[in-house]
Amino acid sequence: MPQLFCVDSNAGQWRVVPLAAPACVLAGDSGSVAVVPSSSLSPATPLLRRVGSRDPEAWTLIAAASASVRVNGQTLPSGLKLLRHRDAVQVAAAQPLFYSAERIPVVRPFPGAPEPIFCVRSKTQLQLGDPAVQCKSCSCWFVQTDSIPAFTYGPSCPICGARTALDGELEWQPVL
Ligand SMILES: [Zn+2]
Repeated sequence: MPQLFCVDSNAGQWRVVPLAAPACVLAGDSGSVAVVPSSSLSPATPLLRRVGSRDPEAWTLIAAASASVRVNGQTLPSGLKLLRHRDAVQVAAAQPLFYSAERIPVVRPFPGAPEPIFCVRSKTQLQLGDPAVQCKSCSCWFVQTDSIPAFTYGPSCPICGARTALDGELEWQPVL
């Protein structure tokens, strides 16, 4: 699941806000911005909205010209921006937020696919419901059982090199 990194000025560290709702409003004043789940579009307030139902999911930033929003220092003339991993989002004079598309790999039942999918490491064909892990970076699938721990067999994904630990840790965070 993607997330936003927001500065927690009291603690002097990043606060990670998972983008769990389909839409979130960026609400706040000149000092800080809160990420608030929202069910409605608001032209006056910058809005983050999940796009489609693809996996991995994509998020867009929607903002009126009057909202004074910048992404990586650039204004949004069209009012719309598809966010990319590590984008910095600044609302007015508030501290910038950082968008992270990084997902934490977890073991979950294989959801199935229109075409046969084979484990990258064990070459086993994945069946609906098999315990499996999807690489957070390249989206390849791995079998992950006690007898075939294909995801954690090596320290990194053989396709893209992403870390294969199942420790719930994010690999990237912006520099404070
Ligand atoms: Zn990978």
